[in-house]
Amino acid sequence: MGLLTLGTPLSWDEAKQHAEHVRAHGIEQFLNIWNKCKTRRSDALLFGDEVEYLLAHFDYEGDDEETNTAKVNGNGVAHHRPTRVRLSTTAHELVAKLAHEEEVATQSGLVADGHWVPEYGRFMAEATPARPFGSTLNDLLEVEKSMKKRRRQAEEVCAPHEALLTLTVFPRLGCPDSFYPSGQLPAADTSASRSIFIPDSAINPHARFPTLTANIRTRRGEKVAINLPIFRDKNTPSPFLEPAPPSLLSSTTLPQVPVPADGKATIPGLLPDCAKPDHVYLDAMAFGMGNCCLQITFQACSVEEARRLYDALIPVAPILTALSAASPIFRGYLVDVDCRWNTISGSVDDRTREERGLEPLRTSTYRIPKSRYDSVSLYLSGGPNYSGGCGFPRLDMVTPRHSPEGTPQRPRSVAEMEDPCGCGDSTSSEKSVDMDYFDDKYNDIPVPINQKVYERLRENDIDHHLAQHISHLFIRDPLVVYKELLDQDDSQSSDHFENIQSTNWQTLRFKPPPPNNPNIGWRVEFRPLELQMTDFENAAFSVFVVLLVRAVLGFGLNFYMPLSKVDENLQTAQKRDAAKSGRFWFRRNICANQDLLEDLLPAPFHSLANGGGVPPPGYITHPNNTDPDQHTLMTINDIMNGNTTLGFPGLIPIVRAYLQGQPHVDRSVRDSLERYVDFIAAKSRGDLVTTASFLRKVATEHPDYKGDSVISEQIAADLCNLVRKIGEGDPEVLEMAKNCCGV
Ligand code: ADP
Ligand code: MG
Ligand code: MG
Ligand code: MG
Ligand code: MG
Repeated sequence: MGLLTLGTPLSWDEAKQHAEHVRAHGIEQFLNIWNKCKTRRSDALLFGDEVEYLLAHFDYEGDDEETNTAKVNGNGVAHHRPTRVRLSTTAHELVAKLAHEEEVATQSGLVADGHWVPEYGRFMAEATPARPFGSTLNDLLEVEKSMKKRRRQAEEVCAPHEALLTLTVFPRLGCPDSFYPSGQLPAADTSASRSIFIPDSAINPHARFPTLTANIRTRRGEKVAINLPIFRDKNTPSPFLEPAPPSLLSSTTLPQVPVPADGKATIPGLLPDCAKPDHVYLDAMAFGMGNCCLQITFQACSVEEARRLYDALIPVAPILTALSAASPIFRGYLVDVDCRWNTISGSVDDRTREERGLEPLRTSTYRIPKSRYDSVSLYLSGGPNYSGGCGFPRLDMVTPRHSPEGTPQRPRSVAEMEDPCGCGDSTSSEKSVDMDYFDDKYNDIPVPINQKVYERLRENDIDHHLAQHISHLFIRDPLVVYKELLDQDDSQSSDHFENIQSTNWQTLRFKPPPPNNPNIGWRVEFRPLELQMTDFENAAFSVFVVLLVRAVLGFGLNFYMPLSKVDENLQTAQKRDAAKSGRFWFRRNICANQDLLEDLLPAPFHSLANGGGVPPPGYITHPNNTDPDQHTLMTINDIMNGNTTLGFPGLIPIVRAYLQGQPHVDRSVRDSLERYVDFIAAKSRGDLVTTASFLRKVATEHPDYKGDSVISEQIAADLCNLVRKIGEGDPEVLEMAKNCCGV
């Protein structure tokens, strides 16, 4: 959540009256930024991660909760087995302490360990590095160190019995008594969410968050409803139906939920309702926004490059979703999915029934195919001034292995280049890679746009694709409107723009420079990753994405394929075991700049860099076998590690080729980076299991597990304790988890 402005947030009935005002000024704010920054050039490829944490509270046998005798956060006190784990709803206090430490450090001219901010759940915290990381390969080695520092910093201020977990979903979120301190019960009649499972006391106390929750529900006209298929085990009842939770039995009015299409409900007393049989029913924003993830933001040298990178990572998102899968358990049950994405998407789905296409359009303006939290619906394309990407400093670092000594094919230093950035307006002949691969046929899914906004942008010379992107974001209403902030100076503020932008939660986010900080340029945020248990793994995913970005620029890679196929992939990615058994569409012909890449790929891949040819039996290709624009259904291993029979080089060999093409970079730096790439390669081969598979296995092999899909308090306690120890780097436990975490 970027926006934590103070003020009085308006209820939905009031807020909606200002929606047009917010959009109109939001667009003026964007135009002001555009006019100021459209020709901005030469920004460095800085980047930074965001890690979200759950704050867990453990109970121990024989412990006196009041005296807090057992210190569990790594201060040398012997750990023993917990009997129960709950989410501690005191994380906002922890964040305040950590933020204070940053302030103190900054005042003394030091760089803090991390920058801590609150998140949606009162049991969550988010940390980024105190400053973004630099743009050299050496800087990539800072990621893991920084993540470790942040974890240590938090451990030191954690209360006894508490620990931060890097775990995507708390296994018993929404079960009875899943919060500490226990107290408020879910209030199905009066709370912001009307949840029968989660009380408002679990939501961050900042007024923004309960308002967001209530306004999403009110705008939608009913509670959010998510149904995850139950994981069917040998003793799972069939059909799987649940008892009514206590909060529902004490409710005087039934929650307002719609009648399901099939008229059936699973939870007695909850009729009419939309909980489906054989599914785990989730009914609140906290079930999605209370999950944790890993995000990476990187800066591009120019708006054109940012647009190009945004596009390049769109097809990569579902692939890395599958590989980072970490969410097999929801509300105390094993489910038949491995990822959080659809849950979080459903948890903030504010569309009316008309917008969802369930009723004819009467009062709503658009039919909207997707939730505000969903996959990207439009490629941006490089824009009209995009003729070949950026020549500096990425491309000149790639020197083919076989090029004769002393005759580099690309300039080696800034001084040798006429235009060090080379974006669009360079006359340099070195800019040989044509990277404008975009074709409108790739934008093949229905996308409503705000016509008024589109026209306003077009009047101001914004090209069709960018105008389309922004006017698609602007079909949404602002959800949280502060009374005090309605009138803004549009040349100084981007609050209204950000209000819409930051509540469009897609797999990628295109971030314009802020109006008041000249140090920050055009950025792209990669948002699909699930969280891993160790800092090493989270660093590996982050580093891999950054290296891939550099390889995209260095080799002029082209990943374009129709967005309908990308969407299909994101659904496939969430299925149980998709990393091993799923088949994903991916473009086969990904490297136009074959000469540059070919020499650097391992021998079996020579002359394959261009994909193409007839794929071996068993591989399905579209539109046909000979079309150079074809995409093929492949495994994660094919896509990541390459497949010679298929003639596909693989993203990992290309990233390795990129690293090998950096002869001036210290050997030890390259070796250290290779460790991360090795880890991603092993995950992709299936030599290392996904975090989701690991958690599922630990749960089902627990002595208390009865083969009935139920994750009891004791199983959850042991599981979270294990995740904590893995995160803290306990060598014994790490040894046990090495088939998942690598080292
Ligand atoms: P949000 O929550 O809006 O996505 P955050 O501010 O929490 O954004 O995190 C953004 C990330 O971007 C952080 O890791 C931060 O270090 C990084 N970052 C900040 N400035 C830059 C920049 N100029 N270029 C690239 N990354 C940046
Ligand atoms: Mg966050
Ligand atoms: Mg953030
Ligand atoms: Mg955020
Ligand atoms: Mg973010």
